[in-house]
Amino acid sequence: MARIELVLGDITEQHVDVVVNAANSSLLGGGGVDGAIHRKGGPDVLAACRKLRAGHYGRGLGTGQAVATTAGRLPATWVVHTVGPVWSAAEDRSALLADCHRNSLRVAADLGARTVAFPAISTGIYRWPVESAARVALTTVAATDLPEIATVRFVLFDRATYDVFDVVASEVV
Ligand code: ADP
Repeated sequence: MARIELVLGDITEQHVDVVVNAANSSLLGGGGVDGAIHRKGGPDVLAACRKLRAGHYGRGLGTGQAVATTAGRLPATWVVHTVGPVWSAAEDRSALLADCHRNSLRVAADLGARTVAFPAISTGIYRWPVESAARVALTTVAATDLPEIATVRFVLFDRATYDVFDVVASEVV
């Protein structure tokens, strides 16, 4: 199993092989993590995303799917874009949130990545309650055994989110 780390910080500053982007299905940028990755990654990231849209992903990236591009000017080598589910109180979409983590790790492993950084997918603009999202994210990563991946780092942007991940990690990992 990969070593799981929690850090308080900015995902765009991580020196890892892969940073996972909480993208939207258009792949053409948005707010939150997505905006920061495109801003700091620069035009090469957007150009690679446009190429994906012009090819296999003409209709966009589906919720739970993952696809890689260059990381442009980021210190990471690749960005793996995944689309988290929007929170719904009426419908349990946890399986899709788990798919984001599992599929991102599989794409990373296929690239030969050893270190992967995730943000708290779906907990921003998509409004997923942090404790529930942390439980899905941490249990899924802990259960995904890919020998290539040595370290998975969750990069939490604020202290409150970090603290919730820390409590959940002590229960499930
Ligand atoms: P989603 O649309 O999947 O909810 P967001 O990007 O809106 O994605 O938010 C996901 C989480 O990432 C939120 O907890 C948000 O506070 C956090 N976040 C925003 N910017 C950054 C960043 N630069 N690095 C790490 N986490 C970030």
